[in-house]
Amino acid sequence: MTEIEKLKKQIDKLYEVLEANRYLSSTLNLTLVLERLLEKAKEVIEAEASSLMLLDEEKQELYFHTVLGEKSEKLKNIRLKLGEGISGWVAKNAEPVLVEDCSKDPRFYRKADEESGFHTRSMMCVPLIYRKRVLGTIQVLNKTQGRNFNEEDLKIFQIMADQAAIAIENARLHNLATIDNATGLYRKEYFLMRLKDEYLRFLYTGNPITVLMSDIDHFKKVNTEYGHIGGDIALKELAKIILSVIHESKEEDIAGRYGGEEFCILMPNADENRGLELAEQIRKRIENHRFYIDGKEARITISIGIANLPLHKTLINDYEDLIKLADEALYICKDKGRNCCAIYEKK
Ligand code: GH3
Ligand code: MG
Ligand code: MG
Repeated sequence: MTEIEKLKKQIDKLYEVLEANRYLSSTLNLTLVLERLLEKAKEVIEAEASSLMLLDEEKQELYFHTVLGEKSEKLKNIRLKLGEGISGWVAKNAEPVLVEDCSKDPRFYRKADEESGFHTRSMMCVPLIYRKRVLGTIQVLNKTQGRNFNEEDLKIFQIMADQAAIAIENARLHNLATIDNATGLYRKEYFLMRLKDEYLRFLYTGNPITVLMSDIDHFKKVNTEYGHIGGDIALKELAKIILSVIHESKEEDIAGRYGGEEFCILMPNADENRGLELAEQIRKRIENHRFYIDGKEARITISIGIANLPLHKTLINDYEDLIKLADEALYICKDKGRNCCAIYEKK
């Protein structure tokens, strides 16, 4: 390859790396962003495998967050102490490392290869740093066709590491700003913002929206029997059940904490029947769940009201009216004896 051809290739690689910036702002799904970034790193640097480890600050250990390459699943359980292995060394010293022959490097952690059945010859590992804080490491293994990684590869990989660090920090800040600490559900303000977006979309496109509003039945009794802290534990567990039902359905539904013990769910593109189905699934899951608070068993039920556009179009002038109607339907459930779900009906 002539010098000019080499330079051209290098420029093409840089364009590809720059293009990866687009992923960073296009979605808040961190897993997806990091997977694409690693895919790109593998391709541009011409490596056989790539992975990203994050630092668990509390335990001072690195764990695999994203792994690309054959037999990668086996690595997910491996944890490295800070300082352990090449990645542990990189995280501890906040310095990149290029190892041409891992078999000769005493820092190399053999267990990862033993677990995955992968044979690591060479490795390039770069720390993920944001504002002087080490967040983790990314690494590529084995340059293809038996070649070695070089200083040019390292420069490009360093840029990608910076991109990954920004994506990780963005996701962390987004979570901090939007997630309710006690339950792991979205905060009310963020939930309402998303509802407003969907409402505007409905006005333009007519795509349906369903809103669920839930309230725990006789929660005061739970507080009386198990104390306020006991009530908080139940609340957290309940939110976890709601989240797992939502994740299982693999739709774009989101859940928020509307009030103390009131949760709401936004289901874009869902008609009222899918709303009722999801509500029933959640209600039943909670009815059948055994809550253990301080070793004592507690049974908890919830009621859920449902509103929908276009079904309730004539009653809705603004996005918050959807919540009001779901809330009214909820109170009808309470009147009927609780532990049930209902779609709003005009009296
Ligand atoms: P029902 O909804 O079935 O009519 O009865 P309820 O006893 O649940 O009554 P209501 O929904 O009106 O009141 C909810 C109670 O939940 C009031 C409040 O003390 C308690 N609560 C609200 N937020 C929290 C919280 O974050 N933690 C705990 N432990 N309790 C909460
Ligand atoms: Mg309430
Ligand atoms: Mg209640």
